[in-house]
Amino acid sequence: MRNYLKFYIDGQWVDPATPKTAEVVNPATEAVSGTISLGSPADVDKAVAAARRAFATWGESSVKERIDLLEAILAEYLKRERELGEAVTEEMGAPLSLGCGFHTLLGKGHFSTALEVLKEFKFEEQRGATLIRKEPIGVCGLITPWNWPMNQTCVKIAPALAAGCTMILKPPQLAPYSAQILAEILHDAGTPAGVFNMIQGQGSVIGNALSTHEDVDMISFTGSEQVGVQIQKDAADTVKRVGLELGGKSAWIVLDDGAFAANVAGATGGMMGNSGQTCSAGSRLLVPAARMDEAIAAAAEAANGVTVGDPQGNFAMGPVVSKSQYNIIQDYIQKGLDEGAKLIAGGLGRPEGLDKGWFVKPTVFVGTNDMVIAREEIFGPVLVIIGYENEDDAVRIANDSDFGLGGYVSGEDADKCRAVAKRMRTGAVWINGGFDFHAPFGGYKRSGNGREWGEYGFHEYLEIKAIIG
Ligand code: NAP
Ligand code: MG
Repeated sequence: MRNYLKFYIDGQWVDPATPKTAEVVNPATEAVSGTISLGSPADVDKAVAAARRAFATWGESSVKERIDLLEAILAEYLKRERELGEAVTEEMGAPLSLGCGFHTLLGKGHFSTALEVLKEFKFEEQRGATLIRKEPIGVCGLITPWNWPMNQTCVKIAPALAAGCTMILKPPQLAPYSAQILAEILHDAGTPAGVFNMIQGQGSVIGNALSTHEDVDMISFTGSEQVGVQIQKDAADTVKRVGLELGGKSAWIVLDDGAFAANVAGATGGMMGNSGQTCSAGSRLLVPAARMDEAIAAAAEAANGVTVGDPQGNFAMGPVVSKSQYNIIQDYIQKGLDEGAKLIAGGLGRPEGLDKGWFVKPTVFVGTNDMVIAREEIFGPVLVIIGYENEDDAVRIANDSDFGLGGYVSGEDADKCRAVAKRMRTGAVWINGGFDFHAPFGGYKRSGNGREWGEYGFHEYLEIKAIIG
């Protein structure tokens, strides 16, 4: 049992202003795994005041001081990587191999990338008569979700620190443990008091107090579209900058060439990773209509091959994060059946042999782009295959979405893949499994505003000043 009852404010572990707690449930066992405190606006006021005081010095720190701090954080992170991964597995149910693998790797990667960027970053540039300066925006509220906890906290904290900002992190109630350990890491690395603060609690209370706070300059949020819209409204009265990384319904286009069956299988397996709880998941798989039978065979085989079970065991997929997410996903699967999508793998209920824990069957439908299951973000291991007539049609279907976060293209000819990628209205397109920590990440359309990752992530936390003459 974990008992994480204190908040990290002004360089110290402190009790909440008003005691209030909540239990945290392990999604694989449905058993209580620990307790956290839930904060109140008084805690936020205290943390914001500490962050404001700290900004006076950290905001003017040298690049060398920031590099030293990021290096110290990275060193502490490496010492506790295993512990972080175990916490991720316990809180949100990712298999241990994933929790201690890609989950913690992403967090580490954002710190090392921020270091690389910081060493080269031009905070000042003379352009004719004008000196352009990039200055830290100030006190930032960081509000994060549970699906990739280390990725989403580190992708905000690392560039915010590098830019010279101070911050208050509000981790998700569903995944509070890894954030607590991360706060210990930042403390042990010698982060100056007040530069980083962390308060656990409800989004509607702590998140709202940050979004409406007079003395918070910026909010960086990752999560649902609904909450993102609310935050933008809440932040409007104080004219805050708001960075939003929201949902998606990304298309994965498999071209009519190359290793077709392997590409379909790869896309299907990709969708099931992290139990489908990835904002940029390729949840619409677009294949040539003429090759639908081949695609169905390959996708069904791949989905049926995904083993599901105890995250502590040797399975590819764990549970989804909570009972409520399980129910939402079941409702979507029922919806797919009701609207006439053809089920080719998985379906309703838990996988055979699992009667406890929020386990979902890796599910694949064949449908059309107008179906609810092709339009709304399900956030579970549910894939919809849609047939296209030709490449123009594939691009049209891919772009026929309210979202615009990611896209994928698989095919033999890199130039052809890139030509298709250029026509997709999304913030990123991954070709044949490409991956790059320096590539900007963010959404077109309702998938959000702003860009995270690498150098573009720095700009989120910087103001631009012109000194003329
Ligand atoms: P969410 O409700 O958007 O929560 C994300 C974060 O925002 C959490 O820390 C949450 O706090 C906080 N929050 C909630 N209400 C708030 C408010 N009024 N003001 C400020 N902050 C607030 O996401 P979720 O509940 O975790 O998941 C719901 C759906 O969001 C999923 O089904 C999925 O579709 C989508 N989602 C998308 C992403 C993504 O990466 N794009 C990630 C996660 C979820 P609590 O701890 O109280 O929830
Ligand atoms: Mg929520």
